[in-house]
Order: sequence, then C-alpha cells, then structure tokens
Amino acid sequence: MTDWKNPPRLFIPGPVKVNDDVLQELARPTLGHRGKEYAQLHSETVGMLKEILFTNQNVFLSTSSASGIWEAAIRNCVGFDETVLSVCCGAFSDKWVTIVKNCGRAVEELKVEWGRPTTAEMIDQRLAAGKYSAITLVYNETSTGLTNPVYEISKMMKQKYPEILIFVDSVSAMVGLPLHFDELGWDVTFASVQKAFAIPPGLAVAVVSSRALEKSKDVPARGYYFDFQQFAKSNEKNQTPTTPNIPHIMALNYQCKKLLAEGMENVWNRHRAMGDFVRSWAKEKFALFCDDKYASNTLTTVKNTRAVNVAELINTLQQKHNTIFGNGYGKLKEQTFRIAHMGDISIEDLKELLAWIDEELD
Ligand SMILES: *Cc1c(COP(=O)(O)O)cnc(C)c1O
Repeated sequence: MTDWKNPPRLFIPGPVKVNDDVLQELARPTLGHRGKEYAQLHSETVGMLKEILFTNQNVFLSTSSASGIWEAAIRNCVGFDETVLSVCCGAFSDKWVTIVKNCGRAVEELKVEWGRPTTAEMIDQRLAAGKYSAITLVYNETSTGLTNPVYEISKMMKQKYPEILIFVDSVSAMVGLPLHFDELGWDVTFASVQKAFAIPPGLAVAVVSSRALEKSKDVPARGYYFDFQQFAKSNEKNQTPTTPNIPHIMALNYQCKKLLAEGMENVWNRHRAMGDFVRSWAKEKFALFCDDKYASNTLTTVKNTRAVNVAELINTLQQKHNTIFGNGYGKLKEQTFRIAHMGDISIEDLKELLAWIDEELD
C-alpha cells in the first residue's frame, strides 16, 4: 500500500537519500530573511560554496529547482539577436534547446549519439563554421549516465573561442565530480540540491562569471525572479532578492561544512569508488550503456542485456524491501535502468541494493 509517510529508500538519480541529521537541519527555528542571522547564514554558505566550487566569482542561491537557472542563463546572458549552440547528447541536454527557443532566442543543435561523449573536436568544428555567442553543455547526462570531458572542452574553448559564453548544466555532477569553475572559464553553471548535495528538493545553487554578470546589464527583458543583477545586488548585503528557502539553506550550510571537512578530493574519490563498485557489478551482470571511460561516478545507466522487465523488478524491490531505483529515462525506458550513487548514499547501501536485485535475477 502506498504511504507517502513511509516512502521507499531512494536509489533514483534525484531526489536521492537524505540522512536524518540533514533532515534535522530543515527543522530549525525560522529566521527573518532581512535580519543579521540570515545574513550570517547566507555569507557563510556562499563562502563555503566558493571553496567547494573553486571560484572567486558570483554564487547565487535560488529558491527554485535547477531548471530555473537553465532559463536564467539564457534570459540574462543572450541577446535577442544572438545564436546559441546547444550540444545534445541525451534527454537533459536536449531540454536546453527547448528552453532557448522558449526564451525567444535562436538555437542550433550539435547532435551527439546518446551514450557517446561530446569531444572538444566536435565542438571546435561546429564553432569554426558558424557564429555563436554562447554554447550549452551538460556535464553529466543523467539519462545516459555519461560524463562529458568538460575539462578538455573548456581548455579548447579558452584557447580558440574565449569570447563565447559557456553555460553548463552540472545538476547531477556538482560536488560528486570535480568542478573548478574559475579554471574552467565557465560563465554559468548550476545544480539542484536534491542531487549530490543530498538535501530534499527546493533550492538551486548557481555560479555566474563576472563577465556574464556584466553582459547581463545590457540584455533587455530579463524578468525579475531570475534576474542576475537583482541576485548580485542582494548578495552584497548577504541576502537574496526574494524570500529564500531558508530551511534548505540551513541544510546546505550543514552539508557544505561536511564536504569541506572531508576535502573535495576525498569527496570525488568517494564517488569514484561508488561508481567503480556499481560498474563492476553492472559489467558482470549486464553491460554499461555508455563507454566505460565516460561512465559517470554519480549514477550508472545499465544496459538491460537480459531483457528483464525493469518496471516489474522495481515494483518487486519496493514490495519486498521498500526500495526503488530508476527505470531508463524517456526513450531509454526498459532498455536501460539507472542506479544513483551520489551524495550520502554509501557503498553499504549499494551492496544491499545490488544483492536484492541479484536475488531477483536468477
Ligand atoms: C535532475 C536534472 C535536471 C532537472 O533538475 P530540476 O531540479 O528538476 O530542475 C536537469 N539537468 C540534469 C542533468 C539533471 O540531472
């Protein structure tokens, strides 16, 4: 029987498992968002995020899901007479295209086969042949379980196209995978907190470069809720333009302290170890959907080589163990399934899950 008060343990690629100590942070006394206490919370949290994301530029806390920042990047940083190049390699990168169009800007697609990495050469070729003012990328494709070689891409962009703005969806990558924002030379990147930050949904973290912020001053019709100029002005007072999701910011503050105490190298290595663990199981029992070299350390998309009924398998696990994992996304439903290994999920959690799946296989 469905009971939302006793939900299944989550191994879907977001929202992910949230530890009880993190949930407790959401239950602290409420603060006034224009008071000194909030300013302290804001300043501490933004300061830690800058360390975690290796940036001295602008970190904004947006009371929205990450999708809001998809839109914000376009509405703030792309003029109505400019063209965006969107790299499409899965369901999430495809969505950028819709968003750019819906914001009334011109967009062209660079289509990459699902499960294949987007290389610096592919982007270089395309940029050399057209006139674009920005590109959109997805760091980690949550549909295919693929991590794009963003460091190589960014190096190429810096050398050959320093004037083109770079917007990167890091929703299922941020904190699980290395992200040195300033060194990468990105202009906008963002994530929702229900992925590797391991907090319930309801808040997004955005990083915006100084040059993107500067450019936004001259872009008309930026709206209000996602206006980077408003965010920047409020940040100076350690505030947000509108009333923020304060409980989530308290939980984010708590998670940031833990991440910094662990050390980002260790956090990334922990995700790699979880990735290796699930991949070795997947390769033994099934196969990986994408090339091993580009397989993500925050989730694994498993190719359903045994033609198991995935929906039924998930259902069985829910009945027997009150635990679920993810079916394939969109057109990859039943052809694949997805197991998240990010945030506060542990190897012990994963051992338990995989053993339960094994029990149903033979
Ligand atoms: C989850 C996800 C999103 C959407 O995040 P929301 O919080 O629903 O806005 C976007 N991009 C990627 C890569 C994701 O994994």
